[in-house]
Amino acid sequence: MPRPVRCRRVGLSPACMYFKPAGIPVRHLRERVVSMDELEALRLADLEGIYHEQAADRMGVSRRTFGRIIESARRKVADALIHGMALRIEGGVVQMADQRTFRCGDCTHEWHVPFGTGRPAECPQCHGQNFHRAAEERGQGRRRGNRANERG
Ligand SMILES: [Zn+2]
Repeated sequence: MPRPVRCRRVGLSPACMYFKPAGIPVRHLRERVVSMDELEALRLADLEGIYHEQAADRMGVSRRTFGRIIESARRKVADALIHGMALRIEGGVVQMADQRTFRCGDCTHEWHVPFGTGRPAECPQCHGQNFHRAAEERGQGRRRGNRANERG
């Protein structure tokens, strides 16, 4: 198992996953792969003009990590533009903001399901059917419900 990586929160779903210079067949192109979290960093810092500190907070990473992500993103995009390379957008370690959270009543396992896929058939951990939709994340970043507050 690879070491566990903290999920980075991403609030976008890009309109296009592949960019290439016009008129050049793909097989003649080199490409740079930009991860979703790198793209999100570009969006927050360069498109929305948000300070790194706030942007890091939105993505649920440290400021230092954010600095690394944005630096890597900018280098790849610049490289592609200057050297006429293709850009491919790929997953990375992200947690899409717009997904549904389910919680198992038997084993308390929580998991995420993207919108557009059906209701899960069973809890992926204990295979039980006793699960329900958990409260939505508000998109506000780090707030987590207090577990002591559960009804019952
Ligand atoms: Zn379960």
